[in-house]
Amino acid sequence: MEILGQFNLGFIIGRLDDDCFIVDQHASDEKYNFERLQQSTLLNKQPLLHPQALHITASEEMTIRENMKVFQANGFDFQDTANGLKLAAVPFSKNTTFGAEDVQELCTLLEGGVGAAGGALGNLSSSEGLALRGFVRPSKVRAMLAMRACRSSIMIGRALDTRQMRQVLDHLAEIESPWNCPHGRPTMRHLCKLPPPKTS
Ligand SMILES: [Zn+2]
Repeated sequence: MEILGQFNLGFIIGRLDDDCFIVDQHASDEKYNFERLQQSTLLNKQPLLHPQALHITASEEMTIRENMKVFQANGFDFQDTANGLKLAAVPFSKNTTFGAEDVQELCTLLEGGVGAAGGALGNLSSSEGLALRGFVRPSKVRAMLAMRACRSSIMIGRALDTRQMRQVLDHLAEIESPWNCPHGRPTMRHLCKLPPPKTS
């Protein structure tokens, strides 16, 4: 996409052939940062003083054992006891409290496949959910990552030079589902059709 300029310190106006597009600089940068965080973030664990009983079914326990890497990447850890698995660590967070119910949610997401449990993944449609590479995230972790992505992204009101605008557009082309920010706001809209070039 060819860059025509920045509008209102919030939008990039671009042109692709005869079509003019308006790109939200914050939503676009946020979505790019969010997808990177979703794919790569290993959450810190906060060990529990007293490991918690999980009250899970045998099949849920199997799911945990088979997907231990996913649970650990999300900050959970377990203790193997004579009575089955106990919750030994939860994701570290200042503002969010995690517990056995989040382990259960992650089990459901993994058992149903991300697509089938699309509703639990917030604004993701099931096809978007399936397209996401990397780790499956419980909804509270997803919300934490969305918040982090938002804070670290280009804000509305910031003047961008051509190089920075180019980077936003190039990043948009790289990501899995570029059409909405993690909160569901559109990143880009078709603005208008440009008149054909005069030949005379
Ligand atoms: Zn934001």
